[in-house]
Amino acid sequence: MFQGRRIALASRHGKERALARPLQAGLGLTLQLATAFDTDTLGAFSGECERPADAATTCRRKAEAGMAELNLDLGIASEGSFGPHPAVPLLAVGREWLTLVDGRHGLVVSEQLLHTATNFSQRRVADLADLDPWLLQVGFPRHGLIVRPSRPGHDRGPTPALSKGIMSRDALALAIERALPHASDGQVLVETDMRAHLNPTRMASIRRLAFRLVRRLRSTCPACGTPGWGLVDTVAGLPCDWCGTPTDLIAHELHGCVACDHQQQRPRRDGLREADPGHCPRCNP
Ligand SMILES: [Zn+2]
Ligand SMILES: [Zn+2]
Repeated sequence: MFQGRRIALASRHGKERALARPLQAGLGLTLQLATAFDTDTLGAFSGECERPADAATTCRRKAEAGMAELNLDLGIASEGSFGPHPAVPLLAVGREWLTLVDGRHGLVVSEQLLHTATNFSQRRVADLADLDPWLLQVGFPRHGLIVRPSRPGHDRGPTPALSKGIMSRDALALAIERALPHASDGQVLVETDMRAHLNPTRMASIRRLAFRLVRRLRSTCPACGTPGWGLVDTVAGLPCDWCGTPTDLIAHELHGCVACDHQQQRPRRDGLREADPGHCPRCNP
């Protein structure tokens, strides 16, 4: 179904470095780069323009934009979002989406990845010297930075003296110097630049996700034979080891098809059949 076809990738951020090899080796696809379309118009990390749609939709639109540009019937795109962990607010978490659109067969297949190994972070400082421990923590200068004037409550939207893609200490010092006069509180806001080509940690996540998507595209629906069979949902309620009460832990996985409504329940991948009583609402309320 995919062997020998060309696939469009809309990206100006070097994502072909993570995607070309898995797509070639796993599916026989040749990646072609579409660079005329500015994917930042669908929303940028640095906040100059808001994302008009949710990440999954944005991802599909990017893939379609690449297909239109190169006049191909197959496209792929990736999208990331970063923020505090929903359960552990001090921990940053990244979510990556990867979507393949096959116009010839009317298929849209997506995979996503949640990873806490992200360097996503920000700091407000008045002086470069105050940043040192943080710079080490976010992996600078191997990872890029963004600097803007600090204006608490008005950080997003068009910003004067915004510097992106900072990869050296000299550039960082210059960016802080430029931004300071525009600040409302005498500080600058320094953030990690999450664009893939400036963030090797994120690039590695995208590569991992690419292998996951390829695996999914290589598995076909047992009912209709369409590629893209895989995890669609998880079902909570793993029973407590002591009393059998359902817990919040995942009891089993739900696998499904992207074309028909066939679904199957599968046991947990790790083989766990009972929950530790520590998770039990009755044994450990
Ligand atoms: Zn129990
Ligand atoms: Zn099916």
